[in-house]
Amino acid sequence: MAKEIKCPYCDEWTTQSDVTCDVCGKSLKPDRTEEEARMRNFKPLDIPLIPINDDDHWFVKGVKIVLRTGQMIFIAIASAVVYIASGAAH
Ligand SMILES: [Zn+2]
Repeated sequence: MAKEIKCPYCDEWTTQSDVTCDVCGKSLKPDRTEEEARMRNFKPLDIPLIPINDDDHWFVKGVKIVLRTGQMIFIAIASAVVYIASGAAH
């Protein structure tokens, strides 16, 4: 028993069992394409680096430099993982 839904593109009623509209042939799953677009736009590497201020104490600067180095190593590993993961997915 197929449930009828209204096509968001042509406002015609079509059966939900179809992935595409019977009338205009467009995809009836816009949520899924939005999700895919969001996944594509997802940037795990947009991690802001710890800012180092000129008026920081030398010790604070030293700690921040060490933390930043750790961050950059983490970002490098993360980008490698993302590259491998995206390569394996295709
Ligand atoms: Zn349609």
